[in-house]
Amino acid sequence: MRFVHDSLPQRVCFGSGQAREHLAREVARLGATRVMVIASKRDTGLVTRITDGLPVALRHDEVVMHVPVEVAERARAVAAAAAVDAVISIGGGSTTGLAKAIAMTAGLPVIAVPTTYAGSEATAVWGLTEGGTKTTGTDPKVLPKVIVYDAELTLSLPADLSVASGLNALAHSVDAMWAPNADPINAAFAAEGIRALAAGLPRVAANPADLGGREEVLYASYVSAVAFASAGSALHHKICHVLGGKYNLPHAQTHATVLPYVLAFNGPAAAGAEGRIAASFGSGSALGGLQQLRATLDAPRSLADYGFAASDIPAAAAAILPSVPPSNPRPVTVEDLETLLRAACSGTDPATLS
Ligand code: NAD
Repeated sequence: MRFVHDSLPQRVCFGSGQAREHLAREVARLGATRVMVIASKRDTGLVTRITDGLPVALRHDEVVMHVPVEVAERARAVAAAAAVDAVISIGGGSTTGLAKAIAMTAGLPVIAVPTTYAGSEATAVWGLTEGGTKTTGTDPKVLPKVIVYDAELTLSLPADLSVASGLNALAHSVDAMWAPNADPINAAFAAEGIRALAAGLPRVAANPADLGGREEVLYASYVSAVAFASAGSALHHKICHVLGGKYNLPHAQTHATVLPYVLAFNGPAAAGAEGRIAASFGSGSALGGLQQLRATLDAPRSLADYGFAASDIPAAAAAILPSVPPSNPRPVTVEDLETLLRAACSGTDPATLS
């Protein structure tokens, strides 16, 4: 066994109903005296409640999915004008992404308070979108110094979005199993992420007010994101990255829809990963385990439901091909990608790809 593994330096504060207490302590630990709070308008009441007593110099609510460059520029400008010395993001991956865009240029510390299962808070990956092209990169400066997880903040996430976001977390773990920097350490995180998501997501889908289920899924989304951050971006993420940036498809739902097709395509060529994923699902096969979970959750089924058209397939496949990692367990041609996208577009049984 030979590998080189980096662990990312981060403090994780986990506790339901404890966000306010954790934030107060962590802001003091950072020595911040002029804090910028980023959260969408939807979260105004929540923000007031959990940031009460903090030295807030600026509240910013312009949050847009996939962080358009002009939105990032405006946030950077107001942060500089207000001379803030730390950023707190409260929201899903789009909100965390905006905080990262500020940290990238201003070098400010970020405290992330996630309200979805996207997992961006546990990675040093930033993303910006300009003219339909999403660019991502890795920079240690954007990694939040602290994560404050409070499952109570996820109770308002509707059941369908909870399912899609939880499957986005699952995609981090599944794709990590064959990613370019896969190693036994990130595989252990990925296996645990799959196990905990398979246990928690059905509880949340059946009863979105189940706080214990929410905690399990939130914990799982963290370990899944840690696996992804370490193992790197593999075929599934490359596909969803192009679909999100070029066709403006919703992030979580796109991941939730595409995952079984990538698993059906790669699984038979990656026996070790396949076995590990199957075991984490407690199933005889990886795809069988995933499909059984998806059936329980009434998961998103087809990209066409989110506005992706069959006529988009050739251009999408051509855009994805150059980014496919050479380490993918099986070679990928443009025809393979077209077949995969055609199946995902219409919601055909993924087993037809194996
Ligand atoms: P999002 O942040 O856009 O949120 C989706 C919707 O849910 C929004 O309307 C939001 O207001 C709402 N919402 C969020 N939390 C809620 C709650 N608790 N209750 C009710 N509504 C709530 O979507 P997302 O899926 O969390 O994040 C997607 C973005 O994150 C994409 O831009 C993606 O590229 C990025 N991302 C980045 C990484 C990374 O490592 N850099 C990882 C995952 C996702």
